[in-house]
Amino acid sequence: MMAARVELRCTSCGRAVPAKGAVQFPCPQCSDAVIGRCARCRDQSVGYVCPKCGFSGP
Ligand SMILES: [Zn+2]
Ligand SMILES: [Zn+2]
Repeated sequence: MMAARVELRCTSCGRAVPAKGAVQFPCPQCSDAVIGRCARCRDQSVGYVCPKCGFSGP
């Protein structure tokens, strides 16, 4: 078993989500923070806010 595994966290709802069905991408504004969205938030088009620069997007 891998000792360290990066856990993907949904930026919208703040919960750790399984990689399956979730997406992650660098912030389009600062490219520093990684935005994560779980399948549910993506399906409901829940917006996200970058934790570093405050950029918000769909
Ligand atoms: Zn979510
Ligand atoms: Zn940002």
